[in-house]
This record gives sequence, C-alpha cells and structure tokens, in this order.
Amino acid sequence: MTRFAKVIVDVPSKQTNRPFDYMIPAEMDPWIEVGSRVGVPFGPRTVQGFVVGFTSESEVNLTRMKSIKELLDLVPPLSPDLVELGAWMSRKYVCHDIAALQSMIPTALKGKVERVLHVSETYGDEELLWLPEEQRVLDTVDRQGPMKLEQVTTMFPEHEKIIKRLLKQGFLIETQSIKDRVAKKKVKVVFITIQEDQADEVLTSFPAKARRQKEALEFLMQTWQPMLMTELLAELHTTSSTIKGLEDKGYVEIREMEVFRDPYADRRFKKSVAMELTEEQQHVYDALEGALNTREHNVFLLHGVTGSGKTEVYLQSIQHCISQGREAIVLVPEISLTPQMVERFKSRFGSMVAVLHSRLSNGERYDEWRKIRERKVKVAIGARSAIFAPFEDIGLVIIDEEHETSYKQEESPKYHARDVAVKRAAQQGAVVVLGSATPALESYLAAVTNQPLAGSEDGAALKLLSMPTRVGGRSLPKVHVVDLREELKNGNRSMFSRDLYQAIEDRLAKKEQMVLLLNRRGYSTFVMCRTCGYVAQCPECDIALTYHQKSDHLRCHYCGHAEKAPKTCPSCQSEHIRYFGTGTQRVEEELAKLFPGIRVIRMDVDTTTEKGSHEKLLGQFRDRQADVLLGTQMVAKGLDFPYVTLVGVITADSALNIPDFRAAERTFQLLTQVAGRAGRHHLPGEVYIQTYTPEHYSIGHASEHRYKPFAEEELEHRRKRGYPPYCKLILITFSHEQLPMLVRMSENFATRLKEEAQTRGWIHMLHQAADDAIELLGPVASPIPRIKNRYRFQCMLKYRGNVDAVELVRAVSAEFDEHVRSDQLTISVDVDPQMLM
Ligand code: ADP
Ligand code: ZN
Ligand code: ZN
Repeated sequence: MTRFAKVIVDVPSKQTNRPFDYMIPAEMDPWIEVGSRVGVPFGPRTVQGFVVGFTSESEVNLTRMKSIKELLDLVPPLSPDLVELGAWMSRKYVCHDIAALQSMIPTALKGKVERVLHVSETYGDEELLWLPEEQRVLDTVDRQGPMKLEQVTTMFPEHEKIIKRLLKQGFLIETQSIKDRVAKKKVKVVFITIQEDQADEVLTSFPAKARRQKEALEFLMQTWQPMLMTELLAELHTTSSTIKGLEDKGYVEIREMEVFRDPYADRRFKKSVAMELTEEQQHVYDALEGALNTREHNVFLLHGVTGSGKTEVYLQSIQHCISQGREAIVLVPEISLTPQMVERFKSRFGSMVAVLHSRLSNGERYDEWRKIRERKVKVAIGARSAIFAPFEDIGLVIIDEEHETSYKQEESPKYHARDVAVKRAAQQGAVVVLGSATPALESYLAAVTNQPLAGSEDGAALKLLSMPTRVGGRSLPKVHVVDLREELKNGNRSMFSRDLYQAIEDRLAKKEQMVLLLNRRGYSTFVMCRTCGYVAQCPECDIALTYHQKSDHLRCHYCGHAEKAPKTCPSCQSEHIRYFGTGTQRVEEELAKLFPGIRVIRMDVDTTTEKGSHEKLLGQFRDRQADVLLGTQMVAKGLDFPYVTLVGVITADSALNIPDFRAAERTFQLLTQVAGRAGRHHLPGEVYIQTYTPEHYSIGHASEHRYKPFAEEELEHRRKRGYPPYCKLILITFSHEQLPMLVRMSENFATRLKEEAQTRGWIHMLHQAADDAIELLGPVASPIPRIKNRYRFQCMLKYRGNVDAVELVRAVSAEFDEHVRSDQLTISVDVDPQMLM
C-alpha cells in the first residue's frame, strides 16, 4: 500500500500551520521516517520541512499531489518523541509547529534555499547553431554545474542577456535545493594502495622527471600509514598536484573523510574519580539511584545550599544512569557554563560528554550535536536548548540552578526548559533532578505540597530532597548588611561604605581575593542633562540610550540605533550633559582611585563579547593575576575560587525596584548566590551587602541564609495578591505602527476575551472560593511602549484551576487573523512569562 508523508513546512504562518501531504518517491521510501528533514515543493518554491507522520489516504487529489524532492539527511535529525514534543510545545506555548521543531535542531541544519543552474539534457542532442558566447556559457555550466546564478553572472558579467535568454528557452534550467548552513567538516586523507613487497619494483620504475612524486611515495613508505593531506604537503613542501599524480598512477588513493570539530580538542582534562559522599549527599544519591532503578518517571527538587556538593551528586547519579545503558542530559544556565563546570564533567566522563553552548561556532555546535545523534556520547551538557539533545533512551535529566530565568526562551517558541524537561522525561520514563540553593517558588511550592509543576501537566509530583550544610562542615559566610542611608548621613558620598572599604583594604593586605557585584538591571548607563533633566532616548523605541565609553556612542539595546554622544544638551544647550548611573566601568575607575595599584578584572557584556574572553578572564582570576573580580550577574553564579574571602554587593536595591512581582525573589536569589562565592574552601568568607532598604525581608533573609522563612513569607504575599504559583499568567502583547489603531484592536481583543470567558462559564478571580477562575488586566501600554517605531500594548490573563486560557487565547487570536495579515498588527503570546519588564 502506498503511503503519503505528512510534512510540516517551513512557512511560518497561520494558514500553513498544519501538515501537508506529499508523495514519497520510491527510492526514498526506505529512508523516510517520522522526524526526517526533507525539501518539498510549496507553491513556486522549494522549502524545508519535517515529516511528522504517514497516511495511506489523503484528501488531496492525487493528480495534484506533489512529491518530496529531497531527503536532506540519511539519519533523521528528529526522533518520533521529539516530533511529539514539538506538537505539545506548539499547543502549550501558542507557536507554529515549525517554530517548535526548528528550535530543536542546530542552526547549521536550518537549511536555506539555494537556486542553482544546470544545462538541459537536450543540449548537444539538437543540431543547433550556437553563438560562441552562448556556447561558452553552456559549456562552463555543463562542466562545472550545477552553479549558482551569481557565480555564472560574475563569470560572464557582460552576458547577462544571453544567460536570461538561455533560461527562457530552457537550455539553462534553474532548480532550487535546500542547503545546510554549515557543512560537515571533511579532510583529505592519503592512503597508500600498493603492497610492501611491490615497493622496490614501483620505485625503480619511476620516471626521472617525477622526482617529487617519488619522494612523496618514499615518505609514505616509511610508515605505510594513511596520512592527512595537509600534513603530508607541509612535510614535503609540495602541492596537492604531486599527490594527485601519484593517485593517477594508482599508487595512492585520496579519500575525503568526515571529522568532528572538537572545541575542546586542545584541552587536557585530568581524570577525576568519584569522591566518597558525605552523609547528606549519600542520602540524596540513594533516593536518585532508587528512582533510576525503577526506570519510571520521577521528579525531585534538590534544595542544597551553595557548596553542599550538588555537582558530585549529579556526577555519581549520571554514572549510575550510564551503567544502566541509558543517557543523561544536564542543563546549566548559559552564564554558568564556564570552563570550570565543563571541566568537572569532562574529567569524570571524558569523551562521553558533548557540550552545547552558544559560544561555540555553528559548525562546532553541529558536530557536538551529531555526536549525540550518532550515539557517540552518553551525556549532553548545555544551556536551555540542550533539552532537545537527540538521545533516544534518556534516564536522567538534571537542571542545575533550576530557578534561573535564562531557562525561559524570550523569543518564539517562548518555552520554559524546566517544563519541557519534565514533559520529555515523562515521555521517556526518566528521572528529573531540579537543583538549586534558592529554588523557584513554583518548584518549592510543588515540592512541599507534593504536586506536579503547574507548567507541565504530565509530570510526576515533586519530591523534596535537601542538603542543608556545606561539604566538610565549612560554614556559610558571615553577611553584613550596610545601610547606605547612614553612610550618606555621615557624609560618605562614595559608592563604597566605610565597612566595605576597610574589608577591601584588609584583603589587599592579606593577598586574598574578592568578588564585587554590581547589579546592572535598573541601572543602565544613560546620558542625562543635569541642568534640565533631558535624557537621551532612542528616536524609535521610547527607551533611554546606553552610553558606550570606548566609542563615545549612544546605542539602543532594542533596535541597535546608534548615535554620537552629545556634547551639549539638545534640549537646553547646557554643557552639563554627561553619562549617568553606576556602570561597572565607573566602579572600576573608583577602585583604581581609592586603592592605587589594585588589580581588577571586569566582567560584563562589554568585556565578554569576544569568543573565549569569558574563559580567559576567569582563568586569569583563578591564577591570582587580579585582586578583584568585578561584574554583573555573571560573577554571581557557579564560580568556585579558593582564595575568594570577600564578596561585596555594591547596591542590592536595584533589583528590588523593578516593577515585577518576582523582584523580591530575584533579589533573594542573587544575594544568596553571590554570597555563596565566598569562603568555599579552607579560608572563611565574609559578605557585605550595601543597600538603601536594609529592612526589606528579602535582604534580611538572604543575609541570614534563610531560604525557607523567605519562601514562606514570599508565598504568603503571592497568595494574597493572586500571583504565581497561586495562579498562572499569559501575557499578550500587541504592536502596531499607529497608536489609535493599536488601542482599538487591543481593546476589541480584550472584550472578546471577556465575552468568551463568560460563555465558557468561568468566574472572576476575585471570588476566592471559586476553583476555576480568570481575570483580565489591561490593555495598557507596555513597560517599553514603543520598539522600532511600533507602539506596544499588553493584556495580562491571570487564571487558576481547570481554566484552559491557552485555548481561549488561541481561539480569540484566530478571529484577528485578518487584521494581522492586512493591518500589520502583531500579537505575541507569552505563556507563563518570566519577564514582565
Ligand atoms: P554546589 O554545587 O552544591 O555549590 P559543589 O558541588 O561545587 O557544591 O561542591 C563544593 C566543593 O566541595 C567542591 O570543591 C567539591 O569538589 C567539594 N566536594 C563535593 N563533594 C565532596 C565530597 N563528598 N568530599 C569532599 N569534597 C567534596
Ligand atoms: Zn538640558
Ligand atoms: Zn531603538
């Protein structure tokens, strides 16, 4: 019986967001599976698509049904369970199926369409008279083809008309094909093909003028081993034509062989062995091992203080998982995917580990990914998207620092890796470990009430495991809270309090190291006029421009708009216009002024853009080439340096003042994390938190290392004010170039939401007793009211119980399709938003 393939095509629009049926050419049939990537004709174009299923009956008229044109990989890049996961994601996060599937494969495989020319088969058959230039074009394409149109036109710049005519007459034919963005890396290897006992005979018969060929052959005969072409040429100072000559004589063979680009090829990792676990670690390990042995889906929240030895527990659980013949995925926040972290895994599992992070080139990333798909590794460690590692028998998924906001993708598909991980583990019967010193309140509440995570409906109920003490009985560092208001009263206008100043002076004398954290959020280095208060803003985005000292430019972080920094105020012509706010650069300058000779390593977005710079800076700090590691959030996470005995937080408040209901939680997490960098080894640590609001409960609890009391207090606030985890949120953002149009559309949308909610019989959230309830906030202008010249409005849906608000939003959005198409309205939906700013 013939089967037809159901294909999701790479044409992201509402009308195309369904599988299309295609015929399968007989020669491809044995190769096509669910998850195969194919090139298919779609209207006049060729597009990439994924096979998501098969059918033996199609509603499409067979005479009109098109065939799959190309099969792009012999091994499908997606497995059937990933295809299923994609369908789940597109439903849950209201995105196109293709967006969900594309997010699972490396950029290298996001094929682009290439148009190529080749010569018609009729060329040469017919008795036609060609103009010499026509003949030249056709012969060239025939010999070198298929060629890209640009290639042909650059070769024959003055023959554009002729090329056009040949195309029209059908002697040149244009076809489209899908081309991967990065090719597999291939190298040429030279194999010697004659036998050792033929050596003398061959060498004596060599013609005298082929001296170089003879030398090369003699060289290969020293070892009789295959050799890299590049090495051979370098060794002999000759060109590839020499080796080609040998190949023509039949003495060697040149073969193209595939290699993996290994970003860690030049690094040696010391072999590490399992440590003897502490009692707390053992207790946790036993629970994980037990769960792995059942081969059933389980979810654990591991609450372990900083330095409690969570990583060692991960390593040993992974070891057990591998010994069961299964695979493991480890997710870490991008920011803490440091060489230190990678080293701990590489030194335990060696070449069984693939590392996926965004600092790899597309090619390197693709090769790491292929190691996973080709079953060459057992462990994948990486940021958010590593959850899509194409393993087929996953036993364990670990999410380290599970509270981190970077697990949520901020562009479509706006998925949360934690929820996707639980879903994937449920599919595969795998164990999930969510590890953190400061669990997200969503996870904590689920664990203490023994419920599944609200975001992943198929997940198992969370079980709480904890490690409340540091390894080796080391104490958590002493935290001092410094009231900056008092400093000001006492006439200290510097950014360092007297206490922190003294502490820095003390560590410099003792040659110990320090980490200074400047929470950049809410600060930004903007330009303001001190006379009239004018702030330089992006002309298109209604947001303050950021000052870049190096180039003396102002830049918009949303649209990239750049302009020269003004010398006088554009509004009042005053000269007192200057850059403002406490950037890391200013702290660095201040340190240099106060402590002459102090060695500072500054780590922020400006100093870490270059590939490898992050690693280099941390390496220098580790080697004690600097006294201070100064930076933004980047310095708070996961670092483990034995000589760090002081941590200073320049001001804790900036994170508190963000208009987001998670501000207190984020502040608590950040302070706890950064405090955890101090005194992790034999030297005891000390922390100074400078703040204008020392009485705030998140600062108070963080300074006493009290997670549970903080969580309870914060949960009580959330419950009273009706915020997650006591309800769920959907943020809908509308944008349009014209404000009146935008206001009207978003209001209509809101009205329709309310009407439909009523039709479904859902009750308003205010009714505390109702289990199923919903509430609509807005529409209001977004916190950033204009980006790239488009105005922005937003609505927020809050809901709880069995209310299917996602379905509601999808249904109402569908009514607005016409406007989206013709009026340039965009509607973007964020399910379980993490950033309300
Ligand atoms: P966490 O990830 O919980 O912050 P780490 O895994 O970084 O903690 O462990 C803190 C330190 O304790 C590390 O230097 C680690 O090598 C060490 N360590 C962990 N477990 C043990 C153990 N069982 N015995 C001795 N040292 C350990
Ligand atoms: Zn001014
Ligand atoms: Zn802008």
